Amino acid sequence: MNRLDGKIALVTGGARGQGAAEAQLFADAGARVVITDRLDEVDTTAERLGDAVEALRHDVTQEDDWARVVETVVAGHGRIDVLVNNAGIFRSGGLRDTSTDTWNEVVAVNQTGVFLGMRAVAPVMMREGRGSIVNISSIAGLRGVAVAHAYAATKWAVRGMTRSAAAELAPHGIRVCSVHPGIIDTPMLGELGVVADAVTTRIPLGRIASAEEVAQLVLFLASDDSAYCTGHEFVVDGALTA
Ligand code: NAD
Repeated sequence: MNRLDGKIALVTGGARGQGAAEAQLFADAGARVVITDRLDEVDTTAERLGDAVEALRHDVTQEDDWARVVETVVAGHGRIDVLVNNAGIFRSGGLRDTSTDTWNEVVAVNQTGVFLGMRAVAPVMMREGRGSIVNISSIAGLRGVAVAHAYAATKWAVRGMTRSAAAELAPHGIRVCSVHPGIIDTPMLGELGVVADAVTTRIPLGRIASAEEVAQLVLFLASDDSAYCTGHEFVVDGALTA
């Protein structure tokens, strides 16, 4: 309890799924949480989660949107202690059947969104001399995925960007880690479709995970309990990639 007492957290893609679960746990741990999303649902999610959670409309692919969101959070709360780059999209398709439009769409959200987020928030954290950035990658960022070429490419990119940013920002007291969930019970699972069906039977723990089980790991990385963890991958996949 109270592992995030007094901290200001910004969680993208917080309207539902893992982002909403992270906002709930963060608020329970004492943080003020701003959830952002391009879905209108973000407002009702914030209302449901209580007074410690507020919502902002936000498209993570847009540089101007990031400037507005960071400015609003800093104007309201003075600083940002935790950034969770959680927003993401899944599109299936191997190398040969991924259109350029699909490639660009997935890169814009999953990769450029994370880049813009870290770049916008790092100077705010540097002023305080501390901060924790958690980038949500995937087990698709640990191995190849024949049926989701663009998705896997972006999740590997997030892993590399995390390590690079961690090395750059460590002297400023800012930690940067990536989280690699396996198969998680969120609305995205419906989009994973046959991909999820094919791998679920191979999960050694014998089940998919809840969004809260990922959020517990993100809470650890957001809090000072993980003060010496930075620049690395944290896997939560029921041993699927073990
Ligand atoms: P989800 O689809 O339930 O939630 C993703 C959220 O991101 C949605 O609310 C969506 O509106 C938001 N979003 C998408 N594009 C956006 C944009 N341009 N700007 C702002 N918000 C945007 O899925 P989830 O499972 O909660 O996914 C969270 C993260 O976990 C994603 O990065 C996803 O790639 C990753 N992940 C999910 C699984 C899984 O099995 N569900 C596994 C590994 C990794």
